Amino acid sequence: MKLILFKQIDYRDNDLIVNGINEDDQRVSFLIKGAKKSNSKSIAYCTLGNEYNYICDDEDIIRMHRFKGGELVKSHHHILDSLLKIACFNCLLELSDKLCKEDEIITDGLYINLNKALDLLEKESHELLVLALFMAFACDKLGIKPMVDKCVECDNSKIVGLSIDKGGFVCQNHHESNDKLYKNIEVLKQFRYINKASFNNFEQLCNLVIDFSIINCFNSFLNIHGAITLNSYEFLTTIGNF
Ligand SMILES: [Zn+2]
Repeated sequence: MKLILFKQIDYRDNDLIVNGINEDDQRVSFLIKGAKKSNSKSIAYCTLGNEYNYICDDEDIIRMHRFKGGELVKSHHHILDSLLKIACFNCLLELSDKLCKEDEIITDGLYINLNKALDLLEKESHELLVLALFMAFACDKLGIKPMVDKCVECDNSKIVGLSIDKGGFVCQNHHESNDKLYKNIEVLKQFRYINKASFNNFEQLCNLVIDFSIINCFNSFLNIHGAITLNSYEFLTTIGNF
């Protein structure tokens, strides 16, 4: 079974439980016995963000599979070269974990999008663009995609800001003092592009210098409309001096 690991949990003295997403966009868990022993060979199969092919012959029988060996499909170890990459990586993994919190909920496209995001983070230097596109994907899947074509209240296409509470762009008549990106036309445009785009458009978006307020707005959207709080977000703001 191919999977990308997004979470590790200590279990008993020597064991680890790893959680990941498989190619069918299902959350899967494996118990890796003895992974924390000093001479453990299985610890090489527990690296977060890596894609593995685990041996699995007990499908649909038990909720927690027992690790019986596997092979590395793809490593993303260059992400560890930069603190900003690590901070974005932590947000990606935590968001993936929270997108499939319940075993029954299947987030269609999560495997492909997480894989793509990790590949780009590994090779490119557009960390904030990668994270922004992944957050936009998450908002879409949660059904909380921001309205970015016209004012959320009146259909006016002359917009001046973004209202997190109302769920999208607002015109001058419907703008309130706490709205974000007020009269910051370039950043409003960026926010619109990101919401319209996917990882397939990455090349075209590479010349954008993503303003951190974009990430901040997505984080607020996920928080207020998706009830998702990213604990790793604070580290990102610290690292980037945002
Ligand atoms: Zn309006």
